[in-house]
Amino acid sequence: MKGKIRDEGILFKTIKFRETSLILKVFLKYRGMISILAKGIRKKPENDLLNSLYTYEFTLYEPQEDGLYLLSEFTLLKEFNLFDNLPAWTAAECAAELYTQIIIPPEENTAYYDLLQNYLDYLKKRGENAILLWWRFLLRIFIRLGIALPLDSCANCNKKKVKIVAREKGTGRLICAECLKEANYPEYYEVLTSSASQILHLLPQIGDYLDKIHPDSQSVEQLNHLFSDHYTNHFRKPLKLRSLEILSQFYQ
Ligand SMILES: [Zn+2]
Repeated sequence: MKGKIRDEGILFKTIKFRETSLILKVFLKYRGMISILAKGIRKKPENDLLNSLYTYEFTLYEPQEDGLYLLSEFTLLKEFNLFDNLPAWTAAECAAELYTQIIIPPEENTAYYDLLQNYLDYLKKRGENAILLWWRFLLRIFIRLGIALPLDSCANCNKKKVKIVAREKGTGRLICAECLKEANYPEYYEVLTSSASQILHLLPQIGDYLDKIHPDSQSVEQLNHLFSDHYTNHFRKPLKLRSLEILSQFYQ
């Protein structure tokens, strides 16, 4: 083992290891995603203090090579006690799952960490219609990843501040009513529900509309497809989040 380090981090999940130990999957503010071996912790009282999506300050021994960090001690910094609001809880899990799938450059760890902390804080403060906050979070992640999704400009005629009425299947491209009317292959497009179209328009300021918009199942499906198609189109790999499937079921 090398020297001791101290860093704050969000606990994503714990995995039982051997008889009495745990492996903690944690996103650290300065070091990003790491795995920590917590030796013998299941026999100790502080085991009860470890909860997913809570924030801690960790004191750790660095691994020699690519191995596990070793837990020295930790203190609780922030709770995420949304156990009575399953949709908001699941929306938070979507973010944790997303962070295990995207590639975060080390110099951007702090930016991603702050984005996630803001998101968790917002979910705690405003838990209703959490899927709206999830989409806004994803929008911000896309900007960070360098694949911003323009929500009010038509991908076909490039007009800005137009009403978006349809999405191109499989690409995440959004188009306006005029372009849809003139499309040679209308079957390539899916017409968005008026609710989905409205959500896209309001998404950057969706915090002001959380109690006014209740997405129906069709709009949820359309918008999930839109975001995952946009991601896949850029990274050539699917964005499959188990937690998002669960979250979507709250809007059936
Ligand atoms: Zn257009």
